[in-house]
Amino acid sequence: MNYINSPIEKIKFRNTDIYLKRDDLLDKDFSGNKARKFYYYLINDLENIEKIISFGSAQANSLYSLSVLGKIRNLDIDFYVNHISSYLKENPHGNYKAALENGVNIIEDENFDFEKYELKKNEILIEEGARVQEAQFGIKVLAQEIDAWAKKNDIKNLKIFLPSGTGTTALFLQKNLEFEVLTVACVGGSEYLKKQFFHLESEEKYHPKIVEMPKKYHFGKLYKEFYEIYNELLETTKIEFDLLYDPLGFLSMQNYLEMNENSDEVLYIHQGGILGNESMKPRYERKFNK
Ligand SMILES: *Cc1c(COP(=O)(O)O)cnc(C)c1O
Repeated sequence: MNYINSPIEKIKFRNTDIYLKRDDLLDKDFSGNKARKFYYYLINDLENIEKIISFGSAQANSLYSLSVLGKIRNLDIDFYVNHISSYLKENPHGNYKAALENGVNIIEDENFDFEKYELKKNEILIEEGARVQEAQFGIKVLAQEIDAWAKKNDIKNLKIFLPSGTGTTALFLQKNLEFEVLTVACVGGSEYLKKQFFHLESEEKYHPKIVEMPKKYHFGKLYKEFYEIYNELLETTKIEFDLLYDPLGFLSMQNYLEMNENSDEVLYIHQGGILGNESMKPRYERKFNK
């Protein structure tokens, strides 16, 4: 992973100039925030570990990134999912397909409970979405890159925006940066996100600020304003953003900037996840096109 591959660019978003950290470009196969979170496992000696156990949804970005990690490090990956739809089984695509091709054992088990899983001595378990302390290792590198860039460009007042799932990336970023980190809960609402922060860090002063939205959004559901902002960004910046997290990321950033006028510079982090659009895009097209 090389920071030269994740430049910071300037884009215009609805008349505001913002900086964009291109973590989507880190590497062709190992990119976005999952690459940051799994960086620890990529470069450290894992001693006698031969297998990683993890779990999540059958279309998770983390499933694909784990599959790449497994390939590079020559590790077996057992990935448990509660349910795989018959449509996906018959028409593999997106993260699911790529992970299968990379040799992940995707195990359907509706009763899988990671807390009851008995680890063998050559196995490690990584919680869903890499919600683990080891994630800090790679996210700290991201924080250092942002810090070095800000110093070089003499930027003293900066606000950093990124949308959250487990909140792991936002939390460890805030812990390792002086600048304020702002985020929005894409999964389970603000209270769930706050709990996730406490799960990883008991000191509240290290928690990012959670931006509240006037409307409740449910993870994975289709919203017209999400599809519109995705298309608008694609047209105006020529950059593809993820359809699950980034629309809410941009909407919450816009809300915040409208309600809190100040002269701070703004940096948004593109956390990758584009392969996941392979399953989201057709759903949006069926629902909203023509
Ligand atoms: C996983 C993911 C997130 C959420 O990251 P957390 O660290 O779980 O908050 C956001 N955006 C994209 C594109 C992701 O793949």
